[in-house]
Amino acid sequence: MDKHTELTDRFGRKVSYLRLSVTDRCDFRCTYCMAEDMRFLPRKELLSFEELLLVAEAFCSLGVEKIRITGGEPLIRRDIVPLLARMRQLPGLRELSMTTNASHLADCAAELKAGGLDRINISLDSLNPERFKTLTRHGDLATVLKGIDAARKQGFKRLKINSVALKNFNFDESCELAMFALERDMDISFIEEMPLGEITSHARDVEFVSSAELREQLSKQFELSPVDERTGGPSRYWQVNGYRARIGFISPHSENFCASCNRVRLTASGRLLLCLGNEHSVDLRDVVRSCEPGQQLQALQQAIRTSMQNKPEKHHFDLNEAPQVLRFMNATGG
Ligand code: SAM
Ligand code: SF4
Repeated sequence: MDKHTELTDRFGRKVSYLRLSVTDRCDFRCTYCMAEDMRFLPRKELLSFEELLLVAEAFCSLGVEKIRITGGEPLIRRDIVPLLARMRQLPGLRELSMTTNASHLADCAAELKAGGLDRINISLDSLNPERFKTLTRHGDLATVLKGIDAARKQGFKRLKINSVALKNFNFDESCELAMFALERDMDISFIEEMPLGEITSHARDVEFVSSAELREQLSKQFELSPVDERTGGPSRYWQVNGYRARIGFISPHSENFCASCNRVRLTASGRLLLCLGNEHSVDLRDVVRSCEPGQQLQALQQAIRTSMQNKPEKHHFDLNEAPQVLRFMNATGG
């Protein structure tokens, strides 16, 4: 998928994938993602509709073929539906996807499909309403399940569940969560929690569950066999006997995937982050706002090309230390 990209870093990795955060705000406060009391960016610091399109256009003109819209919660941005529809028209873009908590998905699934959104990843960490509330602090499981149903009815190319695994909160539900996804022909990825931002709800080292432990647990109910083909993303997939959908594992701690990293991330305020686990970045908002309108695209292309030299080799997550990266996940969107 990356053969057309002009973007190659110092380690020969080709970058063909952009994760674009459209807001840092969220209607949930998931315990592993955010603190309970959050301060969000003032609106003027966020990229505008036009600025987001321009940045996306610059990436696509350099060979990025895949954009994932994320946040915070992307569906709480008011202009999200028209933004996606415009972005989907960008020359060179082959796939537009989104990660959402699904709290507003029931209201807009049809419009998202009509606007050309290809795929949706939905976060779901528990099927127990009370646990779901505890984990998300504000979330309502029934509303999220309605959102999932609405998206399924629209026939998106692919729907996937993401589940952050926590030893004392949802590890015992792994099989149930997997069955929920598989029965609906949706892939599911279990994620090892990453130490981004200081949280107080739990100790990350205590809650850590490795992908190997998860596989062992899942193997009690499912017959799993590894899939050789790589998707270009961090998820390693296992085929499940009797089902078309697969179970994936995102293992930033136990199975480092940095050598095949093909992505960069843009924060909602326009900071191009070259690695989720490092602070190497370039301020693209500054590039856009300091240029005459006719020169913005070229200036962005130049800044993006140059930034590739600054992409770090790998992240250095250590759950036994205080987080090295103080930004919460909602700033960059997973
Ligand atoms: N609000 C949307 C959602 O929850 O799907 C999109 C943004 S959210 C930050 C993107 C993904 O990051 C979610 O699947 C979430 O579970 C995951 N995530 C958040 N904090 C994380 C952490 N500390 N470690 C691992 N995954 C995390
Ligand atoms: Fe919001 Fe997503 Fe973070 Fe949960 S994981 S608080 S839904 S941004």
